[in-house]
Amino acid sequence: MSVITSSAYSRKLQAMGISRSVAENQTLLEAVEEIRELKQQKRAVILSHYYMSAELQVNHADGGVADFVGDSLGLSVAATKIEADAVVFCGVKFMAETAKVLNPSRKVLLPSMLAGCSLAESITAEDVRLLKKKYPGVPVVAYINTYAETKAEADVCCTSRNALAIAKALPGDQLIFLPDQFMGKNLQVRVKAETGKDMILWEGSCEVHEQFSPSKIMGLQMMYPEAELLVHWEVPDETVASTLSRSGGVLGSTTDIINYVAESRAKQFILGSECDLGATLRGMYPHKEFIVPCIRCPHMKQIDIFRTRDALRALGTAQEELYRIDLSESVMQGAYLPIKRMLEFA
Ligand code: SF4
Repeated sequence: MSVITSSAYSRKLQAMGISRSVAENQTLLEAVEEIRELKQQKRAVILSHYYMSAELQVNHADGGVADFVGDSLGLSVAATKIEADAVVFCGVKFMAETAKVLNPSRKVLLPSMLAGCSLAESITAEDVRLLKKKYPGVPVVAYINTYAETKAEADVCCTSRNALAIAKALPGDQLIFLPDQFMGKNLQVRVKAETGKDMILWEGSCEVHEQFSPSKIMGLQMMYPEAELLVHWEVPDETVASTLSRSGGVLGSTTDIINYVAESRAKQFILGSECDLGATLRGMYPHKEFIVPCIRCPHMKQIDIFRTRDALRALGTAQEELYRIDLSESVMQGAYLPIKRMLEFA
């Protein structure tokens, strides 16, 4: 094992607030080193989401395994630029599907097919067809947290980073936004004020962000009165309404949150988003303090460094189909245009 690689990786993890026993560290470093070698041998790259555990968020250049770490939009853009033969997607299934739609000729592997999402599972393509019948001619905006079959029924997709711009740019005085009701209600406040448009919402929710209740956040605001609040669009609208006005802070996408901390003069922040985004923030801003009520996404955590190694070991063997994302031609073609429109707003 390369000493330089392992020490750089361990330092980066420490900066992210992760400490491990010597034995755990050794096992981890062996897996990291094997993944780095397998990636080279099999011409594969790893895309990793900010909600992955810290071990999967360290970049290759820092001794880790990730070739790109980002939010849903950043990962989608990165997926369009891939030159490798295969992508191992450390995120959840709808994200890996998006990478496949954008790279139909390449293999996309997901290290666990159990990595789902409560939002993506809350709505089907048939539900969208019924909505379109009920509201004929009203444009349909599908949040990226939907499966490819559902996206194929939409006019345009969006991520939390460009949802507002897309909602404002669409023609007409109504739009259907699905499937996150809380993000929809948070967006609706701005969309209504700036364009007068109404939004028809679906009743999905993110099982992580919906847990950030007003009382949970207010309790933390009492304990840390100097802290600013970092809340994701998917947090309930009543939390946003009752807590954001009490302190400075931001309501936005994962990248908006990261960028806000860079600009803010505050030293302390309360994070209203997935727990491991706290590790990302600690790694990026070591002189700032992050108070993180640790709620982990069980779907994202289906994927760890060892399953990622197993997927890479399987690449090019008969075991590969256990990990490979396969979509029908018609679904890929149907989902491509709404995703492409989303990327035009990147
Ligand atoms: S954090 Fe929420 S939106 Fe993201 S994958 Fe998990 S359940 Fe889905």
